[in-house]
Amino acid sequence: MARLHTLRSPLSILDTRTGKALAPVASEQDRKRRFDETRGSARQRGYDRDWEKLRDTVVIERGCRCEAAGCGTVVVLRKREATALTPVAHVDHIESIADRPDLRLERSNLRVLCEPCHNARTARDQGFARG
Ligand SMILES: [Zn+2]
Repeated sequence: MARLHTLRSPLSILDTRTGKALAPVASEQDRKRRFDETRGSARQRGYDRDWEKLRDTVVIERGCRCEAAGCGTVVVLRKREATALTPVAHVDHIESIADRPDLRLERSNLRVLCEPCHNARTARDQGFARG
């Protein structure tokens, strides 16, 4: 886990005042397009092209493994590639987008989960929310 942490920081470019984060591998063109797109309402929806790219990048950076305590299951990026032993990855917002929209593209607020761990977390959160 400590090793993953050291990999993360030099790669991320983040303006915490605007909440805009850029994927580390972006070309100049991608970067410009991303800025243009994130100005509008797309980013308020929570899941846009920025998110799709960041999600994939984060899963790969963290070694395609579930980060839930005691899990470590190997995950794949696409549902169509998933098997019983290698479930699809879900990138979870530790602080929800509703609570902290400014942390939506903040790597430190993201956690890679395998599908079973993600489903367990979602069920638990919804249970708390109802109570
Ligand atoms: Zn897991």
